[in-house]
Amino acid sequence: MSDSARMLVANLVRSHGGFARRRDLLVPGVAPRALASAVRAGILVRPRRGLYCVPEVPARQQHAALHGGALTCGAALVEHGVWLRDRPEPCILLLDQGHALRREECATPERFHHRADAPRFGLDDPVHALGHYLRCAPDAEAIACAVESCLARGLVSSAELALVARGASRPVRETVAWCRATAGSGLETIVRLALSDAGVKARSQVRLPGVGVVDLLVGDCLVVEVDGRAHHASDDGYESDRRRDAGVVLLGGAVLRFSSSQVTCEIESVVGVILAAIGRGMHLSTSSFGSPPRPAARVGRHAAFHIADSE
Ligand SMILES: [Zn+2]
Ligand SMILES: [Zn+2]
Repeated sequence: MSDSARMLVANLVRSHGGFARRRDLLVPGVAPRALASAVRAGILVRPRRGLYCVPEVPARQQHAALHGGALTCGAALVEHGVWLRDRPEPCILLLDQGHALRREECATPERFHHRADAPRFGLDDPVHALGHYLRCAPDAEAIACAVESCLARGLVSSAELALVARGASRPVRETVAWCRATAGSGLETIVRLALSDAGVKARSQVRLPGVGVVDLLVGDCLVVEVDGRAHHASDDGYESDRRRDAGVVLLGGAVLRFSSSQVTCEIESVVGVILAAIGRGMHLSTSSFGSPPRPAARVGRHAAFHIADSE
């Protein structure tokens, strides 16, 4: 098989969106043996009998095709660049009446979703994938991370979000309604949600004069930074963190920094420290160092408990 014939076949598959059935490829100029030859040469992949894709199609989409469907739910969101708290379940989307082609060799058993307008193969769109994830995610925190990441990346609009959340359970709809498009990272979402559960309101991505944008602001001047290791471990990140901290202190505020593992593994302790700081009035710009703690009742319904614990 000549190189030009191979290119013709590969481009034909790409023009079908990365996947094509055998019958779509047997056009004038392409003989059946050309398909087999292209597979042997690594120009095409055959996920299952009668179905071909180009090798750049991600492995999870190829695996979904092996089962006879498209990738959806959390696994599809990750391919769209969405940040999820947990490694996603391998969820596969089938047409309404479709049956999954079971495979003995699968290490992880897949979950299957059905939809009338499902794409036949490949990747589900972020709006529908999020709709499935709202019903598949294990808890409110996982949902909030997915929704805020979708909103922040502009993958899903507020109107589309309202549409896909319609019909979900009441707690899920409440979590969705709480979400904002301003979250700078999933870690930020986790802290803001935990604070919200403790009765404390925090604002995401607030610009402070002379400092820049901070991750979270509690009250007037308590800054909470929760970014991951990658930025803050770099030389530039290390320098700029110290400049920013000094800027916050000069404004009369305070900075609390938490690592990604503290946020993901010890969120109760993180919230406890923030509540203790609030209990000392560190979130109010009128506070001065050494003044007695403010009454806990001012900061939320669980504050008294945490502050009593920490002192
Ligand atoms: Zn799912
Ligand atoms: Zn499988």
